[in-house]
Amino acid sequence: MDIQWYPGHMDKAQKEVQSKLKQVDVVIELADARIPRSSRNPLLETIIQDKPSVIVLTKADLADPKVTEEWKQYYRDQGIEAVDVDSKHKKGLHVIKEAALQQTERLQARWKRKGIKPRAIRAMIIGIPNVGKSTLINQWIGKKTAKIGDRPGITKNQQWLKMGKEMDLLDTPGILWPKFEDPYVGERLAATGAIKDELLDLQDIAYFIIGICQEYYPEKLLQRFGLEDKPRETSLEWFEDIGRKRGALLAGAEIDYEKAGEMVVREFRGGLLGRISLERPDDEISE
Ligand code: GDP
Repeated sequence: MDIQWYPGHMDKAQKEVQSKLKQVDVVIELADARIPRSSRNPLLETIIQDKPSVIVLTKADLADPKVTEEWKQYYRDQGIEAVDVDSKHKKGLHVIKEAALQQTERLQARWKRKGIKPRAIRAMIIGIPNVGKSTLINQWIGKKTAKIGDRPGITKNQQWLKMGKEMDLLDTPGILWPKFEDPYVGERLAATGAIKDELLDLQDIAYFIIGICQEYYPEKLLQRFGLEDKPRETSLEWFEDIGRKRGALLAGAEIDYEKAGEMVVREFRGGLLGRISLERPDDEISE
């Protein structure tokens, strides 16, 4: 991701999304299945207002499937349709269209009542950087050439991609910023790689990932790093055992925390620790 968000930039991105919104009937909002809360734009609900929308939880192949089900239920309980996809392996893509069309049933009924000739439903994709917008669009339309701009502010002629005869999709997604100033959110975005690495301390991020695993997925740590199954009280103990096991050591057999941390983060991001969710609907969050 190479977007630097600053107020002027955010303003511009929002205006751009708002102008695209005028052209569409339904919004397809992407959120990372591992961090659905942290990977949403804080203002999106205000921006899209009453327009029909669907939440698509992306990168579901990397998330804990049980937790992903909990998230979908959580959104459905609020009257929001949510589906999950794995664009990497082209799984679940077909349900997006069904879900989006379903959300526009009232609109279509209104057209009928008013005697308006039915047309294809117009949709657009919105999401924060790195959430998987271009991958999803490419996989969905079935070719590698969908050109997707990663920067807000570039104006191109708006084009529509045909998604069968019932739906047209705007070819460029709307890009909005995450709530990155919130430390709870920042930590999670960083763990998934949605924030530039230069901005963070990988050791802190590794601690965070290990902390989540310690609480919910200790067996994944044991397995991945071949650790002995013994009681460990703190994340530091896990961290040090991982470092030792992997030979991330400095002179005098001291743990090389930097190296060990970088390794944990890299392996988590690559899905090598297994399917891990970093956020749950019932997490306590302080506003
Ligand atoms: P965008 O900035 O929202 O357009 O995000 P991209 O589509 O460029 O994706 C960001 C990164 O996530 C890329 O490295 C993709 O390969 C990866 N990615 C996207 N979708 C998936 C998915 O479903 N599964 C996995 N494992 N990785 C994905």
